[in-house]
Amino acid sequence: MSASMAEPITAYTPNIFLNNASMPKLTGNETIIYYALDSFNRATKAYELLDHLRPAGINAIPTVYRALNGLMKKGLVRYITTTQTYITLSEVCIEDDEERIFFVCSNCSHVSTVEADDVVDELQANAKATGFTIRAKNMEIIGLCPVCKAKKT
Ligand SMILES: [Zn+2]
Repeated sequence: MSASMAEPITAYTPNIFLNNASMPKLTGNETIIYYALDSFNRATKAYELLDHLRPAGINAIPTVYRALNGLMKKGLVRYITTTQTYITLSEVCIEDDEERIFFVCSNCSHVSTVEADDVVDELQANAKATGFTIRAKNMEIIGLCPVCKAKKT
């Protein structure tokens, strides 16, 4: 499981992506919420985003969820199931077809990713062998990021 894994990369490279000509067309609220979410530099809860955006005139949680859903459909945002938070994705995550494992810090909600093609291939082979059909892959590992780990030792 370890030999072929790349070094962890950050899930955030917003400026590179937003200057990219392949950026999908966003609605006004999607643009505001994308930048706001990205500014947190960590996975963020929808209600936290709402509080952050009230000065910008966004006052209703359905507005936030609608924009987040649009951003997820466009491949710009990912929902982290285990912490019920959202993160922006870098163009690295979007433009390749590699499978990724998300490392989620339970202390500060920072998210990093590693490529996991081999892990997924192995899981799919094991699933096939047992007759199991995989429908969704939420590969999230909860732990402590290096910064939080350093603070606790
Ligand atoms: Zn942390």
